[in-house]
Amino acid sequence: MMGALKPSGCGIDIRRHIACEECASNVSGGYDPIMNQVIVCHNTVKSEGMFQGVLTHELIHMFDYCQNDLDFKNLEHLACTEIRAANLGHCSFMSAWINGDAFGFV
Ligand SMILES: [Zn+2]
Repeated sequence: MMGALKPSGCGIDIRRHIACEECASNVSGGYDPIMNQVIVCHNTVKSEGMFQGVLTHELIHMFDYCQNDLDFKNLEHLACTEIRAANLGHCSFMSAWINGDAFGFV
């Protein structure tokens, strides 16, 4: 994803655009379009695989926001980016369910 962001004019600096924060127990990560920052929750992400899944999912939101003029207040846009992130990231609702993060992404 990071390789796709830069050529699309959406350069990413790991130190600036990715943050680890403490989150509510039912959240594993998020994308903040105001700060243009991906957040990975250090208190709920418990494995490398889960970290990779959260990071991929949120970077897809970052890509969509930058490249596709995503409006998070538009429900059709939100549905579209969530479907893309699920399909390209963790592949299925069942895998997210098994990992315990089916409802934790934003
Ligand atoms: Zn999402």
